[in-house]
Amino acid sequence: MPPVALSDSSLQLIQLEEQPKNRQQGNSRPALRSAPSSTCSSALAEAPWLFDAEPGYGPGASMDDPMRFPAPRQPGLPAEYRNASAEELDQRIRRAKRALGERLVILGHYYQRDEIVQYADFIGDSFQLAKAALTRPRAETIVFCGVHFMAETAAMLSRPDQTVILPNLAAGCSMADMADLDAVTDCWEQLTELLGEGADEAGRLPVIPVTYMNSSASLKAFCGEHGGVVCTSSNARTVLEWAFARGRRVLFFPDQHLGRNTARAMGIPLSQMPVWNPSLPGGGVTAEEAREARVLLWHGYCSVHMRFTVEQIAAARRRYSGVQVIVHPECTMAVVDAADGVGSTDFIVNAIAAAPAGSIFAVGTEINLVRRLAAQHPQHTIFCLDSIVCPCSTMYRIHPSYLAWVLEALERGEALNRITVPETTAVKARLALEAMLELAPKARQGAA
Ligand code: SF4
Repeated sequence: MPPVALSDSSLQLIQLEEQPKNRQQGNSRPALRSAPSSTCSSALAEAPWLFDAEPGYGPGASMDDPMRFPAPRQPGLPAEYRNASAEELDQRIRRAKRALGERLVILGHYYQRDEIVQYADFIGDSFQLAKAALTRPRAETIVFCGVHFMAETAAMLSRPDQTVILPNLAAGCSMADMADLDAVTDCWEQLTELLGEGADEAGRLPVIPVTYMNSSASLKAFCGEHGGVVCTSSNARTVLEWAFARGRRVLFFPDQHLGRNTARAMGIPLSQMPVWNPSLPGGGVTAEEAREARVLLWHGYCSVHMRFTVEQIAAARRRYSGVQVIVHPECTMAVVDAADGVGSTDFIVNAIAAAPAGSIFAVGTEINLVRRLAAQHPQHTIFCLDSIVCPCSTMYRIHPSYLAWVLEALERGEALNRITVPETTAVKARLALEAMLELAPKARQGAA
């Protein structure tokens, strides 16, 4: 599905009781209250800038994930934005957007809160949005309301004269951070030493690196440099087929679940999919396992999609006869097995849109998208498999206060929080992105 172009009149906003309310508050960090049972963290009621200076991803699904390296932090947001009411921010954002006109395009990821999505010119997944920006040739600035790797991808795919801005630099992605260039290079060197570098009689290389779109530009460049490719959750199978035509094995990072679910659907046994854990010597993989492997899975995961369980699916089936359970392939294999359908964000959006009125869906993906789908499709019953409201911690870091801040700076001619990728990296990363693009139209290119 192409990204959805939004006009204000086309929006169906939903008021989320549990969504953070815009508060009058300064920078002092309050003591956390115990979490009410309806949300995963009481800190979701607080403003994201209270977490900007702290290590960690902030409240939400990935708040307990370890950070592999110091992720970018957001310098202090001026008090005038922290203290502005929701109404004032709304007026300031709309006024700045009007003033910037066609020079600006705002992209909103599916997982963004509704308070942000309402200002987006396009809503979609990461790859759809990067391409959508290209349909606005007069846009000088792309404000990407998503997370860091998405803004990087947009920066690499946009024109050199376009500026890409991420409203809050602390909006990273815990899954993307689970694979960094040093750790992947170390793994690659160990595999190369064990398996060699030369092609076999059939011309296949020992290992082809495949990175999920949800990864840093440096890892996309690593793939480009080593004959690899990028994949999305929509085209992962086609990409693996491409890789197996060129290599005997695949090193798949950073999401083990997308890799495992995809490879298993292709008939590859679990015994040939060892998990490479970079914190263990030799990745925790024996030489024999590496030699026998078809897919070496990186030990990465998305904490949003790890929240879904087989028990939740059983409970949904007990509660609603005829319920269709659809989940994202970043969910565990057990959850995918217990579901009726599995597919990318795009797949989920399309499946719900195409269903006959009166359908019942239990959905295993990020809460902001599920609740928006429920509001957009009142003819269906749609609910999140996980009854506890727990958004993606890093998507949560984008708030109207940051959006107002970067837009008003743009009006003054200042590009705050500009995301750039060194050209030496971008050149190699584009090789891996282009290798993926050449697989179209065999595969839809949607992403998470
Ligand atoms: S939902 Fe998961 S993969 Fe997507 S940005 Fe959040 S942590 Fe990363």
